[in-house]
Amino acid sequence: MYGLTINLESMDQMTICPKCGCDGCYVTPINEVNNNYFCWGCGYQTNDLMKEGEFDFEAYEETLPELYKDIKHKDDKNRVWYPITINLEGKGTVFLNGTNKDDIHWSAIKSVLLTEEEKAQPKYKDKTHKSDPKSMQHFGNDFIEACDYIGVFNEN
Ligand SMILES: [Zn+2]
Repeated sequence: MYGLTINLESMDQMTICPKCGCDGCYVTPINEVNNNYFCWGCGYQTNDLMKEGEFDFEAYEETLPELYKDIKHKDDKNRVWYPITINLEGKGTVFLNGTNKDDIHWSAIKSVLLTEEEKAQPKYKDKTHKSDPKSMQHFGNDFIEACDYIGVFNEN
């Protein structure tokens, strides 16, 4: 997956989402002619390079959960949209959860600070936080609520 950059100072780059039609689609240029699209409304993302017939979807999808492949969406410009996964060090994770395409919802898990004992363990080398399974919450189709829960919109 390519990296996720959230820069809330650039909200003027919001446009109408080509997938869901809301006005919360965040557009960022990846080069002179192509853009990346990140929609806060539907929680999907794509870019102008991810077009059917032009992009190596097989390689890209190797890293994706089966569910994400089942519910990808092709728009009228042949761009393929996938659900967003957010993974912010020190905050948490937001992901689309479910058993099949008719049973999906957004879930979020918060990160907690490691204890001193945990910090000494090799598996937490160079880490400050870990995922806290007890904090998992479900948000239906409300992607923004899920993001808010882990503090995506907070400064720190
Ligand atoms: Zn959308």
